[in-house]
Amino acid sequence: MSDVPVNLLDFDLDALAAWCEALGEKRFRAVQLFRWIHQRTESDFSAMSDLARSLREKLTARACVAAPPVLRQSEAADGTIKWLFDVGDGNAVEAVYIPEDDRGTLCVSSQAGCAVGCRFCATGHQGFSRNLTTAEIMGQLWFAERFVRQRLGVAERVISNVVLMGMGEPLQNYRCVLPALRAMLDDHGWGMSRRRVTVSTSGMVRMMERLARDCPVALAVSLHAPDDALRDALVPLNRKHPIDELMAACRAYLQHAPRDFITIEYCMLGGVNDAPEQAEALIALLRRHSLRAKFNLIPFNPFPLSGLERSPQERVRAFAGILNGAGIVTTIRRARGDDIAAACGQLAGDVRDRTRAAERMARRRTIPLHLAPTA
Ligand code: SAH
Ligand code: SF4
Repeated sequence: MSDVPVNLLDFDLDALAAWCEALGEKRFRAVQLFRWIHQRTESDFSAMSDLARSLREKLTARACVAAPPVLRQSEAADGTIKWLFDVGDGNAVEAVYIPEDDRGTLCVSSQAGCAVGCRFCATGHQGFSRNLTTAEIMGQLWFAERFVRQRLGVAERVISNVVLMGMGEPLQNYRCVLPALRAMLDDHGWGMSRRRVTVSTSGMVRMMERLARDCPVALAVSLHAPDDALRDALVPLNRKHPIDELMAACRAYLQHAPRDFITIEYCMLGGVNDAPEQAEALIALLRRHSLRAKFNLIPFNPFPLSGLERSPQERVRAFAGILNGAGIVTTIRRARGDDIAAACGQLAGDVRDRTRAAERMARRRTIPLHLAPTA
């Protein structure tokens, strides 16, 4: 084994058991260790009192349990907390804790930057730097849980739900996201039910099929447009997997999903995708594909240089009204942590673009989007 300590947050239970086996330890020891790490958020091996002293010493010499260092922490008036984590090489990613009456949700990042390059997303404008490791993904959850527990002075779980809706496209980092999901679901780990863990995707059709097979958690799909012409302009991935293909993949996912609907996210952009006719077109689209879905309308969160506008509240309400009127349950996402820029698409840690995505985005900004007819 090398001298660099192994970060045990990198492992799901099977991988931890295999690692422990290489140390000459039985699986039940890995189970105990996994529970200490994920259920009690312990990082000090010497405090893991039911492990043999010899094992604790081996662990101290070879392993660690560590979240990425925190560069900045901001707390909003409504209790939302945002952390900026340093993931090295000048890259930083964010996680956001959102307390509500009946739950605590953590929004987690999966990549430093994002290669999909959606027109309305601050992360997309930064371009892509690299995939996060499983330890960096789990580290956000582990750190946030530990922090909030200490803050509230409680020993029991505070984060009940996880959404992979931070920076990055989780299904473009499947190899590292999958063990993280498994640790979240494992009864010896976080023990979350599949409906409390949501993967949000911009429409990676092939990977949706794999997720359905491997670990079918709740799925949210970022649609943002009722037709291919507009979606091509907003979500470049659409040129590879057009809407009909995406809708078919959603239907197939439903055979495995923990709920009987898919959540469709729709970022409301003034004069672009918020016209009543576009709501009607969405209704027709869902009917054509017999897809059971709930809509989550996200008022656009502006960021510098986006060149786009938030839909006026009235228009968002009218849009929701049309969808609801057709029997499609539609909610409007409440902005949380407004005063600390913690909202969707505003998560903009520093990311070193190692691609030319930033330049591409700058060029694309000069191409006007067609404006939807106003009501
Ligand atoms: N890459 C994944 C998950 C991260 S983005 C995805 O695209 O689904 C999470 C959600 O935030 C997506 O629905 C995305 O469309 C939305 N979003 C991105 N930028 C936004 C912005 N500026 N305002 C509002 N929502 C935004
Ligand atoms: Fe990437 Fe999602 Fe942002 Fe699109 S919306 S650029 S897929 S993080």
